[in-house]
Amino acid sequence: MRIARVTTHHHRTDFTYGASAGGVGGNLHLRAMDTLLVRIETEDGLHGWGEGFGFTLVETTKDAIDRLIGPACIGQDATDIAALMRMLARRFHNFGRNGPVSFALSAIDIALWDIRAKAAGAPLHALLGDAARASVPAYASLLRYGQPDDVARNVTEALSRGYRHIKLHEFDLRCIRAAHLAAPSTPLMLDINCVWNTEHEAAQFCEDVEGLNAAWVEEPIWPPEDIPAIARIRAASPVPIAAGECNGTVEDFCRMFELRAVDVAQPSITKIGGLSAMLEIAELAREAGVRLVPHCPYFGPGLLATLHFLAAMPEAEPIEIYFADLARPAYPALVPRDGAIAVPGAPGLGFEPDL
Ligand SMILES: [Mg+2]
Repeated sequence: MRIARVTTHHHRTDFTYGASAGGVGGNLHLRAMDTLLVRIETEDGLHGWGEGFGFTLVETTKDAIDRLIGPACIGQDATDIAALMRMLARRFHNFGRNGPVSFALSAIDIALWDIRAKAAGAPLHALLGDAARASVPAYASLLRYGQPDDVARNVTEALSRGYRHIKLHEFDLRCIRAAHLAAPSTPLMLDINCVWNTEHEAAQFCEDVEGLNAAWVEEPIWPPEDIPAIARIRAASPVPIAAGECNGTVEDFCRMFELRAVDVAQPSITKIGGLSAMLEIAELAREAGVRLVPHCPYFGPGLLATLHFLAAMPEAEPIEIYFADLARPAYPALVPRDGAIAVPGAPGLGFEPDL
């Protein structure tokens, strides 16, 4: 089954996330929700969809596929995903092992898995493991508001929509306390996106949030590659530590596990090398006794692939979804209900995007 065509689609939609006037898309300063969809077609007429990260960088990742990686895929065997991904990774490794080229490779891998599952006539999760969950619990990942009133109001709204776990992207303790007051029994994942510059600041933050029902502190220090620093913060922290969404390779996770840097590993399927890399990391995490809770809330094929991954794994873990309402989602059916997302049962990823 040879690859005949690789095409890219930049999907853009307006969104709201419950900010009061002046909100700019939280910590990410997003004006729109951008998603890069990648379609691979085979000579025998099958097609699959993948996604490469993302956001305001989608045109750069798109360019990497259109000019570099897509042409290299034409005529290759779509059924031997491992061989094709190994060839592409080697051929393009000197363009960077983290960043747009890696994001592009991730998209290719996801699309090939969609094709593999469609060819088998099975939903993707059936190829990955036996758990066959009909739905996966979702946690509401709130963008940054920076205002305690906004945080409290949106936490309350998230609970009313049925979410039972909430992530904040706040580092101001007034905002985190406001969330805890609004939902005292709800575990709060505290994603601070590498805001602290010293281990002392990070360690102090971890102490400060003890007692606020913190499920974990995520990406506690700048830069994200300083895995030994994350390990030292974890050793002293009274709350669990999570990280990994900025990792570019499976080897980065090997190092995290060797150094016992994290309680929760967070590979992002649209950055790390797609589903093939996720499955490798899942094995490594299991051996290391580390939870794997994926990062990938971008509303595209990557979210769908993450859903199938979580539906299949023996460990029951939640899926991250941005607490944002899209005006024109690529997958209108891919929405949480009562704090969970139903896993589609059709072959492959199970949904076709609405472009
Ligand atoms: Mg994060």
